[in-house]
Amino acid sequence: MIQQISLKLLPADAASHTSIIAHAAAALSVKPTDITGFNLLKRSIDARSRQGVFFILTLEAFISEPFVEKQHPHPVYPSLPANAPRVLIAGAGPAGLFAALRLIEAGIKPIILERGKNVKDRRRDLAALNKTGIVNPDSNYCFGEGGAGTYSDGKLYTRSNKRGDINRILNIFVHFGAEDKIMIDAHPHIGTNKLPHIITAMREQIINSGGEVHFGQKVSAIRISNGAVTGVQTASGEVFEGKQLILATGHSARDIFIMLHQQNILLEAKPFALGVRIEHPQALIDSAQYHCDARGQYLPPASYSLVEQVEGRGVFSFCMCPGGIIAPAATDPGELVVNGWSPSKRNNPFANSGMVVTVDEADFAPFAQHGPLAGMYFQQSVEKKAYVAGGGNFVAPAQRMTDFVQKKISTSLPECSYIPGLQSADLRTVLPKVVHQRLAGAFKAFGRKMKGYYTENAVLVATESRTSSPVRIPRNNDTLEHPQVAGLYPCAEGAGYAGGIVSAAMDGERVAAMIAAKWQ
Ligand SMILES: Cc1cc2nc3c(=O)[nH]c(=O)nc-3n(C[C@H](O)[C@H](O)[C@H](O)COP(=O)(O)OP(=O)(O)OC[C@H]3O[C@@H](n4cnc5c(N)ncnc54)[C@H](O)[C@@H]3O)c2cc1C
Repeated sequence: MIQQISLKLLPADAASHTSIIAHAAAALSVKPTDITGFNLLKRSIDARSRQGVFFILTLEAFISEPFVEKQHPHPVYPSLPANAPRVLIAGAGPAGLFAALRLIEAGIKPIILERGKNVKDRRRDLAALNKTGIVNPDSNYCFGEGGAGTYSDGKLYTRSNKRGDINRILNIFVHFGAEDKIMIDAHPHIGTNKLPHIITAMREQIINSGGEVHFGQKVSAIRISNGAVTGVQTASGEVFEGKQLILATGHSARDIFIMLHQQNILLEAKPFALGVRIEHPQALIDSAQYHCDARGQYLPPASYSLVEQVEGRGVFSFCMCPGGIIAPAATDPGELVVNGWSPSKRNNPFANSGMVVTVDEADFAPFAQHGPLAGMYFQQSVEKKAYVAGGGNFVAPAQRMTDFVQKKISTSLPECSYIPGLQSADLRTVLPKVVHQRLAGAFKAFGRKMKGYYTENAVLVATESRTSSPVRIPRNNDTLEHPQVAGLYPCAEGAGYAGGIVSAAMDGERVAAMIAAKWQ
C-alpha cells in the first residue's frame, strides 16, 4: 500500500531518514519496519509559531510493499535533420534557452544570437567590473550566456503558475544538472556557483542536437519585408535569415527598445518598480524569523517577504537573497544599478533584498517626449544620479536605514557585501520623491512586523531599478506575434510577459510551442 501523508517535524527530525520513518509509522499506525521507503513530495518551513520552527513534509510512504524511488521524467532532444525548419532567437537568457530546447523537441532548428560571451568568459568581465569599475556593455550581470539569471541567487519560485507548467521547467533544470531537491522545496534555489554549469549543459545540448549558438552577435536591426520578418542584422554587419524571430533580449536591452521604436514598431510604456537594495546581518534576519538567538544547524539562512501600503502605493521586498552579495548590475558606464546573488549554500554573513515602490506613467511625465520609452529614460535618469552620487567607479551611494528615515546623512556606514564599495549620501537626492517618501514610510512598519528589521545596522544601497521591463512589446493573445509584424514573437521579461527565471523560461517555451504548432 502507498499512503500520502503530511508530517510537521522539528528541523533535526526532518533531516533524519530514521526519524521520518518513525514519525510516518506513528502517523499511519504501522510499525516502522513495515515502511519500506518513502518519496518526499514537498518540503516547506513553518516559522510562524513562537513554539519553534517546523518543517512540513509531504511524502508518500510504501507500506509492506517494495519501495519504488520516484523518477523524474527526462526530456528527449532529437538530432535535427539538415533540412529542419529554422527559427531565430535573440538572447540566450532563460527564455531564449528554454525556447531553443522546446523547438528542438518539436524538430525545429534554433539559431540563437547572443550579444554577450559564454558563461566562462563572462565571469572575467564580472570580476573586472567588481575590481576596476569598468563595465563591458555586452558582458555583465545582465548580458551574456544564461542571461540575467546566471550569476544570481537562482531562486526558482514564481507566482505565475497559470502561465505554464512550473514542474516541467524545474525538471529540465534537474535534467541539466540541478539538484533534484528543487522539485520538492517550496522555495527552491540553485545558487551562482551551480547555475553556469547548468547553462553550459543546456548550450551543449542545443548544439549537439543541431541548433546554433552565436556569441558576440548583438541584434541591431530586424529585417522586415511586406509586414513580415525576413531576418536580422547584427552589430558586426552579419545577416541571419529567418521568418520567425523570438525576441528574448531581457529588460535591460535598451538598444533593442530604441531600435524597435526607430523602426516604427509599436511599443507601450509599462509600470515597473524602483527603490534600493537593503542589507542586514543575516544573523539578525535569522533571529527575527526563527525567534531564536542563533540559527540551528538544520535550518537554512532565513529569508523574508514584506509588503506595506504607503500613501496609496505598495512598498515591497523583491528578490531577497539570504546569505548573499549585492552586485553591480549596470549594463552601461555612468549608470548605477544594484541587484543580489547568493551561492548555493547561502553562506555569506549578509541578507540583502530589493525594497521597491511601483512607478507608472504619471511619474514618467517629465520624459513624455520619448513616448513609449518614457519609463526607460526615467529609469536611466535615476541610475545616472546614483552613479554621480557614488562618486564613480560603481561605488554606490548608501545610507543607514534609520538615518534615511530620520533624514540624516550617515556619518559612518556598516560593513557591506557590495565589492565596489559605498559612499555615504542622502538617498533622497537620488530617488524620486514618490519612491523615497514611501520607502521611509514603510521601514518603521516593517520593523513592527519583523523584530529588529528597523535598525541602524541595515544599509540602503541605491539603486534597485531593473525589477521588470519599463516597456511592453505588444503581442497578439492568440498567435503571440507582434500585431504589426508577422513572425516577430516578443518574449518573456524584456517584452513584459515574465518576471524571474522560471516565468521567463515558461514564456520561452510557450512561444516556441506556438511556433511549432503553426508549423505542424
Ligand atoms: C543579479 C541578478 C539576480 C537575479 N536573481 C534572480 C533570482 O534569484 N530568481 C529569479 O527568478 N530571477 C532573478 N533575476 C531576474 C532574472 O534573471 C530575469 O528575470 C530573467 O533572467 C529574465 O529572463 P529573460 O530570458 O527574459 O531575459 P534575460 O535573462 O535578461 O536574457 C536576455 C538575453 O538577451 C541578450 N541580449 C540583449 N540584447 C541583445 C541583442 N541586441 N542581441 C542579442 N542578444 C541580446 C542578453 O545578453 C541576455 O543574455 C536576477 C537578475 C539579476 C541581474
